[in-house]
Amino acid sequence: MNLIFLGAPGAGKGTQAKRAVEKYGIPQISTGDMLREAVAKGTELGKKAKEYMDKGELVPDEVVIGIVKERLQQPDCEKGFILDGFPRTLAQAEALDEMLKELGKKIDAVINIAVPEEEVVKRIVNRRTCKKCGAVYHLIYAPPKEDNKCDKCGGELYQRDDDKEETVRERYRVYKQNTEPLIEYYRKKGVLYDVDGTKDIEGVWEEVVSILDKIK
Ligand code: ADP
Ligand code: ADP
Ligand code: ZN
Repeated sequence: MNLIFLGAPGAGKGTQAKRAVEKYGIPQISTGDMLREAVAKGTELGKKAKEYMDKGELVPDEVVIGIVKERLQQPDCEKGFILDGFPRTLAQAEALDEMLKELGKKIDAVINIAVPEEEVVKRIVNRRTCKKCGAVYHLIYAPPKEDNKCDKCGGELYQRDDDKEETVRERYRVYKQNTEPLIEYYRKKGVLYDVDGTKDIEGVWEEVVSILDKIK
């Protein structure tokens, strides 16, 4: 299964993608995670990307397209993959079509997780991420068992630099302008599935599973 999880920042793409990795045994390709890794390592790419990320802007298309192209050629993507946070622009969607064509693949489903702005802001300002393994928590909706400590690996939890309210609002604006048009792009291709992202994590997951079990 070749999947895309689409939705505003904070809609729950990463949370649902991680569950799908477990259940279906296909890798999650999160451009946000890959960019943050490059930032943490202090690579040239990371330094360049950080300027955009801190402002809540999109990293230039050619940069993310390059990263995804390389990643999709790894052997673990042969049985399928979940793109999380990519594509985010029409140019990225078109570049993805091109890459998949070359690889003889296609997208089977785009899961569109819909959540309104005010809920997204509430989710993101209370999001905490594990420094070590990237696991995601929420102070109210999905708290860790022990304060500030990852349940899975014991790593320290932190708040992402771009998870402050004013940056979140800017990211939401960027989503509306650049990414939301992709809903129609994929609906026209007949691969779009809408999910009510305002349900709790378990409720959203049930919807996701019922879709994926059908197309699998
Ligand atoms: P995205 O990858 O779309 O940015 P995340 O999966 O990181 O979103 O979720 C954003 C925040 O909201 C996290 O703190 C996560 O724990 C929490 N969260 C995810 N899904 C839900 C949900 N259905 N209800 C409440 N909180 C959620
Ligand atoms: P969220 O799901 O909360 O929006 P991500 O981790 O997906 O966060 O992305 C964080 C930041 O990384 C984005 O605000 C943007 O600067 C950059 N980024 C991630 N994916 C892309 C992409 N496909 N195109 C451009 N920039 C991206
Ligand atoms: Zn961890």
